[in-house]
Amino acid sequence: MSAKHTGNRLARRKAQKRTYRLILVNVLLLIALVISGFYLIKQWSPSTSKNTLASSSPVNQSQTATTSSSQTSDSKNQTKEEEKIKWVKQDNPVKIPILMYHAIHEMDPSEAANAGLIVSPQTFESHLKALKEAGYYTLTPAEAYKVLTENVLPENKSKVVWLTFDDSLADFYSQAFPLLEKYQMRATNNVITGFVENGRADMLTLDQIKEMKEKGMSFEDHTVNHPDLSASSEESQTSELQVSKQYLDSNLSQTTTTVAYPSGRYTDTTLQIAQNLGYKMGLTTNNGLASAADGLLSLNRVRVNPTTTAQDLLNEISN
Ligand SMILES: [Zn+2]
Repeated sequence: MSAKHTGNRLARRKAQKRTYRLILVNVLLLIALVISGFYLIKQWSPSTSKNTLASSSPVNQSQTATTSSSQTSDSKNQTKEEEKIKWVKQDNPVKIPILMYHAIHEMDPSEAANAGLIVSPQTFESHLKALKEAGYYTLTPAEAYKVLTENVLPENKSKVVWLTFDDSLADFYSQAFPLLEKYQMRATNNVITGFVENGRADMLTLDQIKEMKEKGMSFEDHTVNHPDLSASSEESQTSELQVSKQYLDSNLSQTTTTVAYPSGRYTDTTLQIAQNLGYKMGLTTNNGLASAADGLLSLNRVRVNPTTTAQDLLNEISN
C-alpha cells in the first residue's frame, strides 16, 4: 500500500514536471513567435522601420542624414529617373536631334551683329512647350552617349532631344534655366572655362553653374579661350582642351565627356587630341541630326535661330 502510494506520488510528480516543461516550451515558442513577428513587420513595412530607426538613432545622426539627402535630392531624383528608364534596343540606327542655342534674351539693337545667336525668351519658351507637348524627353550627356553607342531609346519615350547651349552665357542662368525648370526639362551648357574663371560679367559664375548642376543641368567643355582650333597648333589645341577639362572635372567633381568645338571649327588632329584626352563626344555646328555613324567626336547639331518657330523646330527634328 505504501509502495503503491509512493508510486502514485512519483507518477504525479512526473506528470507535473511534464506539464511545467510543456508550459515552458510553449512560453518560449510564444516569445520566439513575437520576436520573429516583430522583425518580419519591421522588414515589410518601410515606414515602421524608418520610425523605429529615427527614434532609436542619435539626433545628430538623423540630422546629418536629412541634410545630405536634401543637398543631393535633385541629383538623386535624376538618378532615380535614369534608373527607372527601361532602354529598348532599336532596329534602325538611332538619330538624335542635338539643338544648339547660345544666348536667350531680348536682343538690344546694339547686338545686331550677333543677332543670329540670340533667341528671345518667348520664342525659347514656345520651343520648350512644343517639345514637351510633343512628348520629347531631354537627354543628359550620359544618356545621349548611351543612346548613340547602344542604339537604344527609352521605353515609351521614343522622342528624345539633347538641348545644348554654347558659351556659358550669364543669361542661361537668368533666362533659360527658370524656363527649363518650369517645363522640367534638362539642358547642357558648354563652358568657356577661362572666361568663367576670369569672372567676365557676361559669363555664368562657378556658383551658378554648381547650383544649376545640382538641379539637373549639365556642364561640358567649350575650351579655355574659345579659339579657332582648326587654326591652332597641336600644343595649343591640347592645352585648350586639357586645361578646360581639368577645370570642369575638379570644380564640378565630374568626368567631363563632351566638347563643343568653338565656332564648330576642328580638324582630324583636333578629333585625335580630344580622343586622347578622354572626350567621348564632340559637338560640331554641322547641321543635321546626330548619328553614331558620323563619329562620336564629330556629331551634327541643329542650329536654332531667332526666327525658328516651334513648328519649324518640330518639323526639323522629326525623323
Ligand atoms: Zn562658342
